[in-house]
Order: sequence, then structure tokens, then C-alpha cells
Amino acid sequence: MKKYLAYILAVAVILLNGIPYIALSDGAGADEERVPKSKVEKMEEEISESGVTITVKRVATGEYLTLPLEEYVACVVASEMYGQFEMEALKAQAVAARTYGLARVGDLCDTVHCQAFATEEELREKQGDEWMDKYWGKFLEAAVETQGEVVYYDDELASYLMFHSSSGGRTENSEEVFPYMVPYLRSVKSPYEDDASHKQETKTVSIDTFVRAINGLNRKPIKETDVQKMEITARTTGGRVKTIQIGNNEFTGGEIRDLFGLASANFTYNIEDYHVIFTTTGFGHGVGMSQYGANGMAKKGYNYKQILKHYYTGIDMGQVTDEIIEKSNNTTGPAENDNKEMAENKAAEKTDQKTETDTSEKNTNQKTEVNTSEKKTEDKTADKKDTSQKSSQKTDTSNKKSNE
Ligand SMILES: [Zn+2]
Repeated sequence: MKKYLAYILAVAVILLNGIPYIALSDGAGADEERVPKSKVEKMEEEISESGVTITVKRVATGEYLTLPLEEYVACVVASEMYGQFEMEALKAQAVAARTYGLARVGDLCDTVHCQAFATEEELREKQGDEWMDKYWGKFLEAAVETQGEVVYYDDELASYLMFHSSSGGRTENSEEVFPYMVPYLRSVKSPYEDDASHKQETKTVSIDTFVRAINGLNRKPIKETDVQKMEITARTTGGRVKTIQIGNNEFTGGEIRDLFGLASANFTYNIEDYHVIFTTTGFGHGVGMSQYGANGMAKKGYNYKQILKHYYTGIDMGQVTDEIIEKSNNTTGPAENDNKEMAENKAAEKTDQKTETDTSEKNTNQKTEVNTSEKKTEDKTADKKDTSQKSSQKTDTSNKKSNE
């Protein structure tokens, strides 16, 4: 049962993990907080001499990369957070990233399936020299200043430290968004999200498109008149739409969010001039730590421990144990039962590479798009999420069957 729970949690993490922030314009005043080059070099030396390593699967190549644990942590924070965020918020993310990575030794990959990771060189290539020179020192500092610190719940690594961009004012109980309950993922207030992106957003859909999209879900067919009569029937503790009645169907807020690409399931709607106008607050699933909320708390003077304890109810923090370090140091490849799967993946990858070569021109175009626009990056991530959801749902069902 425990194994099954871990499995569905992992699936949900794939679907709903925080969205990595890649292209964001630099904030003013970042120069003042730049870490001196001599200090950056000293931290890099300290990290590589620590003797603690972690191994991460590079999904694109199928290879396993072993690197110093704290370098891994800095790289994850760089991939998941904004460089101009407050140090205490970055440190909170560093502790969460370290805990999450160590809890998945043997199964850890470099995508949002686990948590986004890119090496220092890849970050430099993607973000440019200026960005790296400005922020890489801050990410390293967030890792070094919290070196070895992890989150425990009931004396075990708290391995479901989920996070999202912004909650819209209140986070969610895990079981109201996902099909399971995690004791430290409780709904709490998130009062300092004033700077959040996607704070309030509207999305307009013509009734025609709305009806077609709903009927595309292959439930009981609806008519245009049903749209006029649709009704939100329940909300979650954090304010998201739990259920909405449309015609003879009840949909979840998450289904509507995915279907119309809304920033969150925390929405209201109006019907005007033959259109449905959604208004959303917050961005992401709303469970666990709000990244903008963490940054807001840091600005108010809270430290990283207070931030983590606020967003993760009833947790303890402490140094990583020798036992966990030993396991991480000794695991430099996949978990044993993954060997067969790995062989299958390798075969699949070969096919993928062929396809990539054939469409190399298209790939180049896509890269340019990602670099020029933040919004497009987000849209792409949303697309990815949709695809993974479909395949995960299938896996989920087959898993249930085998457990019965
Ligand atoms: Zn993974």
C-alpha cells in the first residue's frame, strides 16, 4: 500500500509540479547583491571537496550524471526559481530541493517529473553569461548556507515537498487537489503574494468553442443552453473550484483548468456577449510552498526555516543522516529493478533521435521561440503537462488493476 501511495504521488508530481521559470527579465538593483567572484570560487571548491554526491538521470540521453550534492541543489534552485528572488526564499527552495533529491536516490531524473535540473554549463548556454554572472553566486550561496539541511516528517525525509508559483492567497490541502492526503501539505494562508505574476488573469472563450471543448471530453453531450445554466457546486479550502456542474456532468476545477489552459483552478466566470469569461487568481496547483509567497515572506523579514515551516505543516528540519549520505554516495545508476525498463528506454531513445535529426530545422525554430518569450515557454510547459497527464492516467489505471 505504501508503495502504491508513493507511486500515485509520483504521478501527481509529474502532472503538477511547479513550473520552472527560465526566461524572466532581470530586476533592478541585482548588481548590489552580486556575490563576489572570489567567494563564488571558494564555494565551488568547498562543494566539490565535500565528498557527498548524488546521481541524476539525464532523461534526454539516458545517461547518469554523478555530481556533488550541493552543486546539484544550486542547479535545481537555478532551474526552478527566479535569480532576483530574496536569499531566504532561495534557501527555502534549496532545502526542499535537497530533501526531494535525496528522497529519490536511484530514481532521480532531471525533468519536472522529479524537479528540473540543468548543469552549470547548460544554464550558462541557456541563460547567457550576464545572467549567470549575476545569479549563479546566489544559487550557490543558497545551497552552501543550508548545506546538508533537510526536512523531516515523523523522522523520515519529507519526500513530497510540492510547490507552485502562487496560490492566490491560500494554499490547498493535498487531498482536495490530488487523490491522496499528505499530512504536511495542509491549506495555509499565503498573504504576501503581491508581486506574483498571473495574479489576476482573464481568459475569454466563445460559447461555441466552449461547447465543442466540453463535448470533446466524451461525457454526456451538452448544448449551448447548458452553458448559461452551469454552476460551481463546490470549492476547496484554498478557494479553487472543486466541482462544476455543466449540463448532466460534474467536472473538477482541474479538468476545466486543463481544458481551457487557465493559470489555476481558482476561477470565477461571467457570460457576456456569447462568451464565457474566466477570471483566475494564482498560478499552479496551489499545494505546498508558494514560491512568490516565500519571496514575499522573505521580504517581510522571515527566514528560510520560518518559510518552510509555514508552508509545510508540522515538519522538522535537521542535518542529513550518515545513512542517507551513504546511500546517495553508493547509488550511481538506476535502481536495480529499472534495468529492463532502461533497455526499453534506450531502444525508444534511438528512435527519438532519428526523428530529431529528420526535423532538425523545426527544432531550431522552437528554440528561438523559447528564448524570445516568457509566455511561450509557459505555454509549452502547459502543453507538456497535458501530454504527460494522458499517458499517466493510463499508467495509473493499469497500476490499480495490478494492485487489486
Ligand atoms: Zn523523475
